[in-house]
Amino acid sequence: LRVDESKLTAEYFEQLSRESAELCCAIMLSSEERVRQEVAFRSVLEVARRAFPDASLHHFGSTALGFSLANADMDLSISLGSNAYDAYTPAQLVEKLGVVMKNAGMRDVKMLTRARVPIVKIRDAITGIRCDIGFQSKLVLYNTRLLKAYSRIDRRFRELVFIVKYWSKQRNINEPYFGTLSSYCFVLMVIHFLQIRGVLPCLQQIEPQDGQTVPTITIDEANVYFFEDVDTLVSSGKWTCTNTETVGELVVAFFKYFSAEFPYVHGVASVRTGSVLSKEDKGWTKDRQQEMNRSGTVKDRYWLCVEDPFETTNNVGRPVDKETLFEVRGEFIRASKILCSAGGVGTGAADEATL
Ligand code: ATP
Ligand code: MG
Repeated sequence: LRVDESKLTAEYFEQLSRESAELCCAIMLSSEERVRQEVAFRSVLEVARRAFPDASLHHFGSTALGFSLANADMDLSISLGSNAYDAYTPAQLVEKLGVVMKNAGMRDVKMLTRARVPIVKIRDAITGIRCDIGFQSKLVLYNTRLLKAYSRIDRRFRELVFIVKYWSKQRNINEPYFGTLSSYCFVLMVIHFLQIRGVLPCLQQIEPQDGQTVPTITIDEANVYFFEDVDTLVSSGKWTCTNTETVGELVVAFFKYFSAEFPYVHGVASVRTGSVLSKEDKGWTKDRQQEMNRSGTVKDRYWLCVEDPFETTNNVGRPVDKETLFEVRGEFIRASKILCSAGGVGTGAADEATL
């Protein structure tokens, strides 16, 4: 983003909106890459069935949502008949899958058996597409559907997601393995912000029919209900968007919110309720060591709290600790300063800055 440092005028916001739209076009996945992804999907399924004949394969995450930047990894999840889950630990499933992937000539095969969610990383030999393949719970498919529904409500959401993802990768704070945040976490932070700002509704609180209560649909111990028929949201009077800000204005407001307004110490960003919850009320105050599958333990941390919309005990901001929160928040402040030009950037000599 090229930012004119003079004043936050209407022209400035217009320019920012225009440049945001251009950036999105430039960094988006091409249709040619999408075709290669479909080819890779079919070859992964074919190879996976050599190890697990009843496997079905599901596509989730950014490449399934249309949120991915060029060269994104494809997130894939295998589901099996229930007996397989009794016979193998998650780490053993991943080892078995990794071996067939290697034998089938897939490139760069890595088995991350000790991760919270064990996965196999591969690069498809023919298309060169990189995939993360796991045996995730069905909830990843539901949260992908929820994000998809939000993306169909207002185009400003998708644009803001692209900008925030691009910025987070440029600034090296999109690496959960190294204590910063996943793209999924950033997307939830964007939804939370847009809900507070009146750009997006809270789909999990909208009843299916007037006069009904919000139902409970339980999958893997989570209530996965949300109002999915978003095309009728406005016509049925269930939602009226009151916010007319441009993408440029929202970009500035987003970075300001997570620099100076979000209550990091006591608050939890909650897409499920469309509000900020209290860490205290959720019992999210003390770090906890938790037993994982047989491969080890993980630490639940509560420095930055972003509630998973369905799995409400899951803090998606878990990777962050005291030091990395300082780093992440520092990046929000840096971006906000550049955008608002409050104190100028660096020496203050430059009259343009690159975010
Ligand atoms: P990228 O383009 O950077 O890969 P992405 O949008 O695919 O970004 P990821 O962080 O890779 O985002 O997450 C992919 C999907 O994995 C999410 O849409 C979500 O379904 C699931 N997921 C990731 N992290 C978590 C988490 N901490 N808890 C629950 N589900 C998660
Ligand atoms: Mg991904």
